[in-house]
Amino acid sequence: MDKKIRNVIIIGSGPAGLTAAIYTARADLKPLVLAGISWGGQLMLTTEVENYPGFPEGVLGPDLMKKFRDQAEKFGAEILDIDVGSVNFKSRPFTIVADGKTYKTRAVIVAAGANSNWLNLPNEQRLIGRGVSSCAPCDAWFFKDKKVIVVGGGDSAMEEALTLTKFASSVAIVHRRDEFRASKIMLDRVKANKKISFIINSVVVDVLGKDKVEGVKIKNVKDGKVKELPIDGMFLAIGHSPMTKIFKGQIELDEKGYVKRIPQGEGPGKFQMTTSVEGVFVAGDVHDYHYRQAVTAAGYGCSAALEAEKWLENQE
Ligand code: NAP
Repeated sequence: MDKKIRNVIIIGSGPAGLTAAIYTARADLKPLVLAGISWGGQLMLTTEVENYPGFPEGVLGPDLMKKFRDQAEKFGAEILDIDVGSVNFKSRPFTIVADGKTYKTRAVIVAAGANSNWLNLPNEQRLIGRGVSSCAPCDAWFFKDKKVIVVGGGDSAMEEALTLTKFASSVAIVHRRDEFRASKIMLDRVKANKKISFIINSVVVDVLGKDKVEGVKIKNVKDGKVKELPIDGMFLAIGHSPMTKIFKGQIELDEKGYVKRIPQGEGPGKFQMTTSVEGVFVAGDVHDYHYRQAVTAAGYGCSAALEAEKWLENQE
């Protein structure tokens, strides 16, 4: 048991969590960041990041996160690379158990992030960042005049495909059914784009290539036939899963399992980054499935930190 009662504990260490750490540390709240064994969030799995402002030459995802971390530590944030096992937001101070130790805190910022869903094929995992991606806005640029596929049949798949057409020579959408979950407007836009084709009733069963993607094996689920398709890139758009298992029953989650952001208060002082429990704030992809960008997550982290600071002041 950690005897101290902390002002604020931040759960998560992607752009949202570490930005919240920078702001709360500079506000002298001495934040504790429970960063997770695999700290840094989704950017740790990317290579070049070219759309994060301030880096005109681009920056490697892990390097960017190291800079976030260094900046938070410089101002006194304590960062522990341990996973949170459980939380109790039902009594105050809140308690959080991580790596077998119990931590107490007045406020919490939940910034646990979300993970892209993958097909979990061995070669897919090996080639992430080498032709396998789950973010077209981040990586489309690297596929100038290349052939790519997008896996999925929802709005994200359509959006990724449209983004990719700005660079790639051809984009094939591989979908496991012949009906699409995507909205009609998105589907119509995709159908009107000459660069995009469809491979329906089909699933990717293997990714080919030693150091970079060179092709995929695609199986038709109707007749069971497998064919090889030479391509340079595979974009996954088969949904995301928020990291909210430990928060079930503690704060309200929506039907997809994302943390519900529930504004509290009235007038100009209204809190925006609040959850169903007063004193528990939320930031980043753990609640946002719309934008899912590093820069928007960082923005949410800043807002949550400013609100946590104000809320703590109001408690005194
Ligand atoms: P989604 O709607 O859940 O679609 C996921 C797609 O991936 C589905 O077509 C699903 O196939 C497929 N899929 C799932 N697991 C798979 C697997 N293991 N193998 C092959 N295919 C698999 O997710 P999303 O497209 O990310 O959208 C999430 C939410 O954000 C939606 O509400 C969407 O409307 C919204 N969104 C909106 C916009 C926009 O309006 N511009 C853009 C992006 C997202 P099945 O259909 O067969 O289940």
